[in-house]
Amino acid sequence: MAGKFLAKVQTRQAFESVERRFLAPYAVFSSESRGRVHREAEHPYRTCFQRDRDRIVHSTAFRRLEYKTQVFVIHEGDYYRTRLTHTLEVSQIAGTIARALRLNADLVEAIALAHDLGHGPFGHSGEDTLRELMREHGGFDHNLQALRIVDQLEERYPSFPGLNLSFEVREGLNKHRVALGSGSKPMANLSLEAQVVDMADEIAYDHHDLDDGITSGLLREEELKGIPLWRQVQREVFSRDPRLRHEIRKYQIIRRLIDLQVTDLIEESLRRLQGHRIGSASDAQARPERVIAFSQKTKKLRIPLKIFLNEALYHHHKVVRMADKARRFLTALFEVYLAKPAQLPDTTRARLKQEDPYRVVCDYVAGMTDRYALDEYRKLFLPFERP
Ligand code: MG
Repeated sequence: MAGKFLAKVQTRQAFESVERRFLAPYAVFSSESRGRVHREAEHPYRTCFQRDRDRIVHSTAFRRLEYKTQVFVIHEGDYYRTRLTHTLEVSQIAGTIARALRLNADLVEAIALAHDLGHGPFGHSGEDTLRELMREHGGFDHNLQALRIVDQLEERYPSFPGLNLSFEVREGLNKHRVALGSGSKPMANLSLEAQVVDMADEIAYDHHDLDDGITSGLLREEELKGIPLWRQVQREVFSRDPRLRHEIRKYQIIRRLIDLQVTDLIEESLRRLQGHRIGSASDAQARPERVIAFSQKTKKLRIPLKIFLNEALYHHHKVVRMADKARRFLTALFEVYLAKPAQLPDTTRARLKQEDPYRVVCDYVAGMTDRYALDEYRKLFLPFERP
């Protein structure tokens, strides 16, 4: 009798069969993965996507997300989002949507955790700066850079570069649909799992930027009353309890806004899945338009919110001042390395023998955190700092 109750390890094959039973037919199944560029034995008790998620979490680029920012620079305070906490919020929201739609939540998590790995320091300003500097040298784009990081730049294995992730995770990061070197042309669209991450990304940043914007004082709640979506939810929260403390009221409005939009997204996506009779992952990817989408009504309601964030926060004079400063000193760093590559660390310098120095310097600067870039600027430009 005792043998029957012995504890045992759940095998990968068992997880794969759970997927086949519980996921929707249009989900991506780990047992049907197109595999990795470099052959490796399967893991005994993790599916390929679970394993990819773990590889991403253990990567250098992932840890650096902690000191990279989007809107608020790291020294402005401990309250604000960094790219790491943004990434975790995206992963959380995307996971909720994926499970509700019976998509592969492990694949979604892996894509979500990797989706911002390619960002340089100082958010959009950093990206614009690198794009400008690289204009005649192959350009710069954070989505393509994320692929470069997982495919080439991470150094962790003796026999291949990069993390050797499964095709479906790499494909999920491939927003520009470039050829992935697998011998086949990319499908018209992202997988449903990758579409979920994309939408969760938007929902996450709109709302955490609202939160950070209000907390920092750059956005005022009075101004937000001009936005129908905000007004509607604010009234609802107020009528439920008019005496809520400011902080709690803000949080309640934002959580309700996220919930409303996530629910709308799930319902509209289900309508499309049924309407188009999507019966497999490749049916979904063959469609030119997105299947994971907001309803027309919600899409319209989101526009004034996005315009407001763009004008009042992303173009707030304090944000613009920081962004312009970042542009100036990232450009200065880039030019100094390029003029005298002997200042670069050994591993980076070694690449100069075979590669375009612009690309080598670009990868180096893009890999920096805000904090590292600031330190490096001080060391290289201030006469009394140790180099
Ligand atoms: Mg993002």
